[in-house]
Amino acid sequence: MVAAIRFGPAGIPIQCEGSSSREGVECCARLGLSAMELEFVQGVRMKDDSAREICLAAKERDVSLSSHAPYFVNLCTPDKVKLAASRRHILESARVTALAGGGITVFHPGFYLKLSPNEAFDAARRALLDIVSELETRNIKIRLGAETVGKRSAFGGLDENIRLSQDLGKTVVPAIDFAHLHARGDFRIRGEDDYRAIFGLLERELGDYVRSFHCHFSEINYSEKGELNHFPLGTNNEPPFRPFMKVLAESGYSGTVICETPKLDIDALTLMREYESAMGRKGAR
Ligand SMILES: [Zn+2]
Repeated sequence: MVAAIRFGPAGIPIQCEGSSSREGVECCARLGLSAMELEFVQGVRMKDDSAREICLAAKERDVSLSSHAPYFVNLCTPDKVKLAASRRHILESARVTALAGGGITVFHPGFYLKLSPNEAFDAARRALLDIVSELETRNIKIRLGAETVGKRSAFGGLDENIRLSQDLGKTVVPAIDFAHLHARGDFRIRGEDDYRAIFGLLERELGDYVRSFHCHFSEINYSEKGELNHFPLGTNNEPPFRPFMKVLAESGYSGTVICETPKLDIDALTLMREYESAMGRKGAR
């Protein structure tokens, strides 16, 4: 059976002996995982030659790649120098990821600072329009995933990212971080119905996106301001992973689940097994 959902770690598996992304891809395949996110969070340092090598390794082993752009991105900033740097970080992540055969670059949209939510939206939209047109000019074919953020001070709630996607066309899509939705309070996720509500909203607003969604999963520690730190699966069950896997198995949706817990690949395998057993239960009915 070909699984409709791909699972993989955010970065090189902790069970991997090597430290290169290519070895990470090979290790994912050995473990039975079929996705991996390249972490450019401290800067894009991958050479073009390595990206081409990773592309071959990933194609050969059917591991689908994505990337996470640097953390220091703020598309809402009025500071022209910071905005230009943010634009560069996203474009460079996208370029190298496309060279590695990856399908999506995830980024954190920005911060409100002194802006109202509408002003922040307009600023992010303007910056993304420019980035999307630059991708087209340079013929870089990749999706940009606006990650749902975990802090209340950050721009990029689920509604905001859905609106960005509706406004900008299919190059920009939301990247759903369930732990962030839970911690920020966009959606407190307690069980199956909450996952169904989120996917229902995505399907209503963005149609086909649920056939190729991209998401991050982790359990999370948070305060009233939002996220604090990620937890391994089974720590506080917030948000709970079993109902998520059940909803995915029953829904017919397809996409990629990147595990962002401190146990990366180990927890990605737990998610995958839970999903497979939910698929088995579904098949047995
Ligand atoms: Zn992120």
